[in-house]
Amino acid sequence: AKRNGRNRYEYFTLEMDVQARTRRCMENDLREAITENQMRLYYQPITNSDQQAIIGYEALMRWHHPSKGLIMPGDFIPLAEETGLIHSLGAWALYEACREAKNWAGGQAVSVNLSPIQFKNSALVSVVEDALRGSGLEPWRLEVEITESVLLDDTLGNIHILQSLKALGVLIALDDFGTGYSSLSYLRSFPFDKIKIDRSFINDMSDSREALAIIRAITGMSRSLDIQITAEGVENREQFDKLKEEGCTLFQGYFFGRPQPSELRLTML
Ligand code: C2E
Ligand code: CA
Ligand code: CA
Ligand code: CA
Repeated sequence: AKRNGRNRYEYFTLEMDVQARTRRCMENDLREAITENQMRLYYQPITNSDQQAIIGYEALMRWHHPSKGLIMPGDFIPLAEETGLIHSLGAWALYEACREAKNWAGGQAVSVNLSPIQFKNSALVSVVEDALRGSGLEPWRLEVEITESVLLDDTLGNIHILQSLKALGVLIALDDFGTGYSSLSYLRSFPFDKIKIDRSFINDMSDSREALAIIRAITGMSRSLDIQITAEGVENREQFDKLKEEGCTLFQGYFFGRPQPSELRLTML
């Protein structure tokens, strides 16, 4: 029994060792990814309720790894956040999104996701400023998406950073609303331009009264606060019709279009 126990212990340490090595390897790869030009932004259309026009795109990061192929953000953003590499990745994304959007004939807006970790860098505001100035993109065509965790703890002055970004003329959206700690009181701490209702609520809407009730609470409140509501993850006509009825004004999801590289992005519905 003692022998077995020891073997099991060795087995676990070996496994942990493999994990640690895989992680280190991935971290090194990630470090090179930007300089080696392996990162891409894919753009998913955002449409208004008339479904007439694409008014903007959300930039979503993809890693074209030389041997592993396409890696989705869920598989490298957490590591980038833990290692601090998100600062350079995030700055790259801001610059790249502004540069590509500047070339869009339709003049649509571009939304860029900001990690809460990026708020720990006091230079964040000048990073955004540099992206705007370097690309020549008009500030109102840039929107940043943040999650409520940015508001949860303001010891670093995150609200002040958001105010500075807004002063540049950039729009601010609250992403994944309804998940996490979400409380309507967050909406009083900062004048957001948009709220994005998390995909999970849209997904559950048809068979969950709770999900629908939350969507109603958000849209009801937005009317009095003059905030636009984006429904994320709209996958079919039924959801689209229902969400329009409930007062959502902006829509994003596979029903309209999937994220694509700038040159292949959907430009008409
Ligand atoms: P998110 O910001 O909530 O982005 C929306 C995600 O939902 C994207 O996944 C998008 O491809 C997916 N999606 C859009 N429409 C539909 C739909 O109709 N059905 C379904 N099932 N999914 C849909 P993606 O691209 O894998 O990104 C995942 C997350 O990774 C993002 O969630 C965001 O939190 C993070 N992320 C992506 N790019 C960046 C980035 O440049 N910087 C940072 N900090 N995070 C990023
Ligand atoms: Ca987002
Ligand atoms: Ca989201
Ligand atoms: Ca999300």
